[in-house]
Amino acid sequence: MTVHLVGAGPGDAGLMTARALELIARADVILYDRLIPDGALDGARADAVLTDVGKVGGGEQVPQEATNDLLLEHGRAGREIVRLKGGDPFVFGRGGEEAQLLRAAGVDFTVVPGVTAGVAAPAYAGIPVTQRAMAAAVAFVTGHEDPGKDETQVDWAALAAFPGTLVFYMGVRKLDRIAAQLVAGGRSPGEPVAVVQRGTFADQRTVSGTLDDIAQRAREAGVRAPAITVVGAVAGLHDELAWFGSGPLAGRSVVVTRARAQASPLAARLRTLGARVVEAPAIRIEPLEARLPPLSGFDLVCVTSPNGARRLLELVRDARELAGPAIAAIGPGTVEALRAGGIEADIVPPRAVAESLVEALAGRTITRALIARAEVARDVLPDALRERGAEVEILALYRTVPEPLDDAARAGAHGADYVTFTSASSVRFYVAAADAPGDGQRIVSIGPVTSDALREHGLEPHVEAQEHTPEGLVAALLADVAPGQLF
Ligand code: SAH
Repeated sequence: MTVHLVGAGPGDAGLMTARALELIARADVILYDRLIPDGALDGARADAVLTDVGKVGGGEQVPQEATNDLLLEHGRAGREIVRLKGGDPFVFGRGGEEAQLLRAAGVDFTVVPGVTAGVAAPAYAGIPVTQRAMAAAVAFVTGHEDPGKDETQVDWAALAAFPGTLVFYMGVRKLDRIAAQLVAGGRSPGEPVAVVQRGTFADQRTVSGTLDDIAQRAREAGVRAPAITVVGAVAGLHDELAWFGSGPLAGRSVVVTRARAQASPLAARLRTLGARVVEAPAIRIEPLEARLPPLSGFDLVCVTSPNGARRLLELVRDARELAGPAIAAIGPGTVEALRAGGIEADIVPPRAVAESLVEALAGRTITRALIARAEVARDVLPDALRERGAEVEILALYRTVPEPLDDAARAGAHGADYVTFTSASSVRFYVAAADAPGDGQRIVSIGPVTSDALREHGLEPHVEAQEHTPEGLVAALLADVAPGQLF
């Protein structure tokens, strides 16, 4: 098969291309760099092999030869491989070298361009890299080269004379020498410069100055890689056009403990509001082998979660099977999941808890009910139905299992301002995998059942959602950040 050299964009997961997401979802093997968006691999298959071959800003790296060996090994084995790189694979990404290697070895490849940091980080800082009457050209330059060295590949005199914007990748630690070299080549010491750190990530920040003082300003601000340095008149537009990072959750970090496959919409919503999201999925959903009994014998089918809805729909061979019984669904996510399969729920209780469904079913004659749910769940619903004389069958469709957290997720989670919990099992597994949230952290619960689970662990939620849905949880979190404000 094929190796796909894929750009993942600069950091904001929303800047990944449709093609990148499609290939990630299909891949047998994904070899990825460290500098890819949070959640970039969420859509990968559960059985895909995910290998980190990246380095952190100048630190230890899997040697390129080892990456090359892996590419060839998997490529020759006929697997579908995604080689996922930050930004664009052909812009300072060594994608060209890997393509040469693959071509020489007779392995097919494709290239999926990505949004490159040199354009995106400035854009998120309100800096257009070209602008009429200011810059008619732009040059992408590696700042990795030491301008003092004789064997430098960068022609500093020519760069200084370049009639347009200079965008430096990888140069934060050499800012003083870059600036000095450009001034020596004839650029004005007063020329605007902007350094954009972690562009397009929620914690992006920009330090502005001039060729004269940017190195000192960046040092004082503690700027670190990854950062893009923009030199030229356009850098001065930052003050006028800055737009990013002004959401109501800007500057806040929020831990999402949901299973990876479900975390994305919640994480994306929080990011849109400006939060820095730490994904710490301590739980994973494992589908169970189940046989659907003939549904014609039931007068009620209760579906208690979106996972249950999706799995149930997978098991239904013929949509007409669901035509007989009334369908009850707990929670808007469950209603949506059923709707995606063409099923409109008949009974939806006002609150997304089993107790509310029991109330909603009062006055209805039920002789035989099927409850489609997780393997381990509360028995509120079956107990109440049995009490009312119904015969109840439970169909266990999935189980939640613990997922180990890596060190980065655990460290990120410990430093965050908010920790969100969307189910009792996420409480249990998160506490086991990452320890309880610390004293300074605010705990946000999706509803009473999750809050009870927290209390069982000696934790008192600071915030409980009024509407027991991810949207309700976000609303409660916003209200906690800025009480009394409407969003
Ligand atoms: N192929 C990548 C560049 C890889 S080189 C691309 O097209 O964007 C790595 C350098 O890219 C970093 O040292 C930094 O200068 C820059 N970079 C990558 N992501 C960045 C980000 N989110 N913000 C600022 N700079 C970034």
